[in-house]
Amino acid sequence: MTYDAVVIGAGPAGSCAALALARQGRRVAIVEKVDFPPRKVCGEFISATNIALLDKLGVGNTWREKAGPEIRRVGLFAGEHCVAAAMPPASGSGYGRALGRDTLDDLLLTSAHDAGATVFQPFRATDIVAGENASIVRIASRHRELKLRAPVVVAAHGSWEPGSLPSHLPKRNHPYDLLGFKAHFRHSALPHDLMPLLVFPGGYGGMVMADQSRLSLSCCIRRDRLAEIRQAQGGSAAEAVHRHIVTSCKGVREAIGHASLDRQWLAAGPIRPGIRPRFADGVFRAGNCAGESHPIIAEGISMALQSGWLLAAALAGVDIHDRSAREAAAKLYSAAWLRQFSTRIHAAAAFAATALNPAGAQAVGPLVALLPAILPLGAALSGKTRTLPGLRHGNQR
Ligand SMILES: Cc1cc2nc3c(=O)[nH]c(=O)nc-3n(C[C@H](O)[C@H](O)[C@H](O)COP(=O)(O)OP(=O)(O)OC[C@H]3O[C@@H](n4cnc5c(N)ncnc54)[C@H](O)[C@@H]3O)c2cc1C
Repeated sequence: MTYDAVVIGAGPAGSCAALALARQGRRVAIVEKVDFPPRKVCGEFISATNIALLDKLGVGNTWREKAGPEIRRVGLFAGEHCVAAAMPPASGSGYGRALGRDTLDDLLLTSAHDAGATVFQPFRATDIVAGENASIVRIASRHRELKLRAPVVVAAHGSWEPGSLPSHLPKRNHPYDLLGFKAHFRHSALPHDLMPLLVFPGGYGGMVMADQSRLSLSCCIRRDRLAEIRQAQGGSAAEAVHRHIVTSCKGVREAIGHASLDRQWLAAGPIRPGIRPRFADGVFRAGNCAGESHPIIAEGISMALQSGWLLAAALAGVDIHDRSAREAAAKLYSAAWLRQFSTRIHAAAAFAATALNPAGAQAVGPLVALLPAILPLGAALSGKTRTLPGLRHGNQR
């Protein structure tokens, strides 16, 4: 089967790229290995900087209808300290909100399909063979194997699972690895307009009210710290994480002390923060495949959506059958990607290093209590005010 573009992975990066390329009139195939709706380790907060893009993608109204309350305050829960400050505005776009990934990912993939993309689901991409004029992507379901041929291949399969594709990261297992956890809670006492950052020994996390009155709690914890806690107290990894956060953070105790867990905890990782090639081995990369920030800044969905959009924009009008034209588009995309995301990746790494350092974690609560203005400054450095150029409300192309 021959296409103009094959996109691997239907997270926000893949679906956004597929949708935007299909709108350009390209023949697009998108391959997703799991049936939807998906459950994912993610805090589910979407910054206001994406609202104009969601509108452009045609899903803005549904997002407004379904997402949780507007998040007007950013906060910090660290030990006994609970501090809050106003969320800095994103150029007249309103406020960010959280929407469950079960709903968001399904919404975006449906829109890509409605724009004309052919969806292969559940199909796993198992191999990419790059050629001069086109690449072959092998995909497999339980019963069928297929070959998809296209000059443009986009790897948007995330970064936390190892695999056999050239865009997969090598497996790793270090004591300092960060493992991700996430759960929904019902009947929490968290103020609906507040998104606190959580700092606790060995890790960091966040909480936010999402859709359907669910509180979304997500966090990362060092592998070695989790092993110590489990050895001391027993129980499953999720139970240990839950207990550890509740006992270390007063704000978490107050928010979910009387709340009920909604379905099971999810785990993923290790997470792989960093900047990676945006184009290599003849394959374009978007979302986490291209690079990711520590989730301490809750910007991964923004970067996934926006990188998918930037990639499609770089390929607009390009003769994709010409290898040098594809490579020139890759250079444009790569430069735009770095301009848009590198500051927040470095800022997130600095915030995470502080939170994960025992002395830093002890100092951060008293410091932010003394100077709450650090919170909006941190949010701005994290990209929470940085809309995609040319996509501000009232200035849509
Ligand atoms: C604890 C934690 C909290 C977070 N909180 C937030 C937050 O509040 N806000 C925020 O913006 N970001 C947050 N993030 C980051 C965010 O979850 C990711 O950055 C984002 O999901 C990346 O999107 P993506 O499209 O690149 O990849 P994914 O969302 O990972 O999507 C990849 C898709 O590819 C599919 N796939 C994988 N391999 C294959 C294959 N071989 N063939 C076919 N399909 C395949 C997968 O099933 C998946 O659907 C958080 C992350 C963590 C760890």
